[in-house]
Amino acid sequence: MSVLSNQGLLIDYEYCTGCFACQIACAQEYGWEAGMSGIDVMEIVQDLPKGKAYLSFLPFPTELCSLCSRRTKKGKKPACVHHCMANVITHGRVEELAHRLADKPRMVLWSPK
Ligand code: SF4
Ligand code: SF4
Repeated sequence: MSVLSNQGLLIDYEYCTGCFACQIACAQEYGWEAGMSGIDVMEIVQDLPKGKAYLSFLPFPTELCSLCSRRTKKGKKPACVHHCMANVITHGRVEELAHRLADKPRMVLWSPK
């Protein structure tokens, strides 16, 4: 499957709710076996004083991600982008997405090698 190397995903994980819809959408699109995925949602737990904890989520594409080139060639959004209700994943040209990285922290830019 061909992947356009000048394209990527920008993930603004500050507002990621950890719903896993991106991971499920990817699995449904590609029929991954258990344990495989084009995107993993990592749970990060920060311990706070008084026994409290702060929970955040970091969705990060894996080497299996094809950037949904099959879909995007037809003018559709990648499955994970389409199904993210929090609208925190953007697909586009890496150069354009990279400009937005400076806007705020807690964003990651991913592109296939
Ligand atoms: S872009 Fe497509 S292949 Fe990559 S993680 Fe999203 S749904 Fe999966
Ligand atoms: S679908 Fe969106 S909000 Fe839900 S886990 Fe994935 S990136 Fe986060």
